Amino acid sequence: MTPSQTFRYCRCALGASKGLKVRFWGVRGSVPCPGPSTSKYGGNTSCIQLIGGDDVIVLDAGTGIRELGHELLKQKKPLRIHLLLTHTHWDHIQGFPFFSPIYFPGNEIFVYGPRALEKSLEDALMVQMQYAYFPVRGVELAAKVRFTELDEETFKIGDLEFTTKSMNHPIRVLAFKFSDGKKSGIYTGDNEPYYDVLENKTGRPDTSSHRRREFIKECNDRVGDYVRGVDMLIADSQYTDEEYESKRGWGHSSIGYVLQLAASSDVKKVMLFHHEPTHPDKQMDAIEKQAIAHGRRLSRRLKVMVAREGKTYDV
Ligand SMILES: [Zn+2]
Ligand SMILES: [Zn+2]
Repeated sequence: MTPSQTFRYCRCALGASKGLKVRFWGVRGSVPCPGPSTSKYGGNTSCIQLIGGDDVIVLDAGTGIRELGHELLKQKKPLRIHLLLTHTHWDHIQGFPFFSPIYFPGNEIFVYGPRALEKSLEDALMVQMQYAYFPVRGVELAAKVRFTELDEETFKIGDLEFTTKSMNHPIRVLAFKFSDGKKSGIYTGDNEPYYDVLENKTGRPDTSSHRRREFIKECNDRVGDYVRGVDMLIADSQYTDEEYESKRGWGHSSIGYVLQLAASSDVKKVMLFHHEPTHPDKQMDAIEKQAIAHGRRLSRRLKVMVAREGKTYDV
């Protein structure tokens, strides 16, 4: 997509409201985990609705998008929906076949995201809609579904401006920065801080490779520059700091890293997201308490929040 391309569509009742807001339809990472022990924070995988412009804009299509689809269909009129995918790992696309608006003629779904290594964005999303996996094939959808592959770039959808940035993950992830000119937010998608793989293997700092350490610092600084000053950072915070030590290289962040990143980059609110599915509500309550206290120690100006399914927050 070129920076000059702009998408502008008619006002939609669900998308229009005062001020920029986010609504969480799914907050978990990796795999859905519904049940009595996760009913407070939610068990669906990643899906966020951006509310504030004239358009229906959705970030990621984890299982939370199923319920959003039902809500959108209540309008009983043709829908134009922009679905922005950070990447095509399953927990970010597995709700798509259950997103009801794709089955109604007259609806238009615009899907954006990075290419998925050996597959196009379209192939990576639609491979789950083959008879071997699902009773409806992608070619049988009644709505018009159009795909746009993204790189690092800036573009507009209606009133909102987006800027994408590559994150650190086993496949390419694009984070989305969004702004209405007054408020700005970032959704990282899956992300792990860059670290020195060799240093981790030996268990001690390798003082011989100054250049390698400089490169890693540059990569992490690039992420810091991208998030600097935003009103809300919605960040992959899957692991506690203790858990992270045995999960290095899995492509996700620790809560401690995310708080440090937010505090050192003058972020106003940080929203912990992409929760580990083995963390029940009781543990999430404890994580929230500890994260707020830790955040306060790092910066008095930083507000720390933990995303909950079904909740809407001001950016
Ligand atoms: Zn994920
Ligand atoms: Zn992923």
